[in-house]
Amino acid sequence: MSEANKYEAVIGLEVHAQLLTASKLFCGDSIRFGALPNTHVSPITLAHPGTLPKTNKKAVEYAIKTGIACHCEIERQNYFARKNYFYADLPKGYQISQHTTPICKGGYITIQTASGKKNIQLNRIHIEEDAGKSIHDIYDDTTCIDLNRAGTPLIEIVTEPCIASGEEAYQYISELRKLVRWIEVCDGNMEEGSLRCDANISIRLKGETTLGTKVEVKNLNSIRNVKKAIEYEIERMIEIVERGGKIIQQTRSFDAATDTTFAIRDKEEANDYRYFADPDLAPFHLTEAYIQSIRSTIPALPQTLKEELIQDYQLSDYDASLLCDDKLIVQFFLSSAKLSNNYKAIANWILGPIKQWLNEHGTDFETFPLYPATLTKLIMLIDDGKINFSVASSKLLPTLIKTNQDPLELAQSLNIIQSADSSEIMHWVNEAILSMPDKVNEYKKGKKGLIGLFVGEVKKISKGKADPKRVTELLQEKLKQ
Ligand code: ADP
Ligand code: MG
Repeated sequence: MSEANKYEAVIGLEVHAQLLTASKLFCGDSIRFGALPNTHVSPITLAHPGTLPKTNKKAVEYAIKTGIACHCEIERQNYFARKNYFYADLPKGYQISQHTTPICKGGYITIQTASGKKNIQLNRIHIEEDAGKSIHDIYDDTTCIDLNRAGTPLIEIVTEPCIASGEEAYQYISELRKLVRWIEVCDGNMEEGSLRCDANISIRLKGETTLGTKVEVKNLNSIRNVKKAIEYEIERMIEIVERGGKIIQQTRSFDAATDTTFAIRDKEEANDYRYFADPDLAPFHLTEAYIQSIRSTIPALPQTLKEELIQDYQLSDYDASLLCDDKLIVQFFLSSAKLSNNYKAIANWILGPIKQWLNEHGTDFETFPLYPATLTKLIMLIDDGKINFSVASSKLLPTLIKTNQDPLELAQSLNIIQSADSSEIMHWVNEAILSMPDKVNEYKKGKKGLIGLFVGEVKKISKGKADPKRVTELLQEKLKQ
């Protein structure tokens, strides 16, 4: 057994997601990203004595929404706790969080692995406020503090230690990101810090049931970096253990320039945050009716829709997954599928020429102007043999996206309706054959691959108006003689 194969990795992820509320968790300051530093800082954010926090109901709603989407149990009896520690960008000297009653418990997120589906078990989701931002790279000898972010509502989504590799972690965060965007509670933007991940990693010998000593890699700001940091750590730890060394519990940071991690601090013992219930905030009770009313706002989730696309629309697993990457894409598919039964063609158009057009124009489905009805009419023209796919995607689609006019009228005005008229096609076929006597000889001697060349020639002569299927048939017939 090779060295690395003796061990298995155990990973637990803590993800902080900024909620898409208009204002902060306990006051009316805006949470808009990119504002001038220290402009969204009311006396409550600044922790002036005598100010009182008031809970943002939207934040609670969004946390519950996430919990329901992740199959969690929702805690009915909640309170906020003070987590005491000192940090320069934490003006109160404590962070308001949840302690013994996280709003969501248990639950899971399903990922796809090489060996099938796996449910990544969640430990909890709780609500807390963000700290401000310390900026170390403006001045050499001074740290700048921007308190705009202080008090921004976050949910922290904590998994059980049940993730087995960097790749699984990658899939998990991708799914989680897709989900929070889908239900519109977080924009999922990792570069702007709306979604941040800490990875806890340990290794142990295969078959071992107790957990090994973990290290925690903090503040990973892209999904790729989460994977890289984990893979680097696993290798580093195996090497230490193989050399007879011991893993020490550490907090580490990822260096994206070298794809390595480095120690920030050793964790001697558990932090003592002296949690207690925040006396300024009353406990809150959630009624069954309230939770039900939130449940009813949740749209069909990607996993459910994917199954539906496979079952009811006979799409492949692959096509269904791609369509369910984005809520707007799948909505476009479903609207189109109400108008045409050629589901496979609709999927092909969306995943092929339409996605390509969006990429080329640097845009997405949010502002995509083509009507589903225009697409399905276009598909019908092809199915009726009036135009072929390549002409439709290169000549018609770009115009239709702008005008949504009737595809048949547009094709007529461009004079590209295919001729289904055999005598007209036969005329083009004859012309092509006459223009290439040598190739015709070679074909007749057995070089059947030349058929493509003849079809291409007819396409040219007919200016794309001859149905390629019919052309091939007529050519084969003609060349037999
Ligand atoms: P802490 O108090 O250090 O934050 P928690 O028990 O709250 O630790 O766990 C934080 C995260 O670390 C969770 O996602 C959990 O699954 C994970 N975790 C805990 N112990 C280990 C371990 N030995 N190896 C890997 N992950 C772990
Ligand atoms: Mg932690």
